[in-house]
Amino acid sequence: MKCPKCNVELIAKTRHKVDMSVCPSCEGMWLDAQELDQLENEAFDLGEDEKGTLVFSSTPTAQKCPQCGAKLQRFNYRAYDLQMEFCPNRHGYWLDADEDTRALELMKDEEHGYERSVRAEAQWGRMMQRMRTGSFLTRLKDLFHP
Ligand SMILES: [Zn+2]
Ligand SMILES: [Zn+2]
Repeated sequence: MKCPKCNVELIAKTRHKVDMSVCPSCEGMWLDAQELDQLENEAFDLGEDEKGTLVFSSTPTAQKCPQCGAKLQRFNYRAYDLQMEFCPNRHGYWLDADEDTRALELMKDEEHGYERSVRAEAQWGRMMQRMRTGSFLTRLKDLFHP
């Protein structure tokens, strides 16, 4: 798979305990859709409240899914003021390196200390895992094409 922005081959990495593909050039991340195994009981229900946390950009992106070549669609995850792109064919997400860092810093916000920062990383990892589930991607796609 190649980076949608740099066209450089992505490298498999683990970041915040999450397996992903990272671009060695821009350090952006591709999070492919995954089946839930250990997190099965934590089904991510995108209810009315969750819908309110998603804001869509009206402009489509020129970047393409590294797996199928479809144009990625951008959305904002308002809960963390996070901008991400997702494949309309539900292959996964693209996340810029600075977006990832900024969101994590937001979670660590205000209170400092080692324990707090470990918790924030775990929370961030869980959120990314949830967003990679087929059910979340399907709901997201439904919001774009009701
Ligand atoms: Zn790149
Ligand atoms: Zn795709």
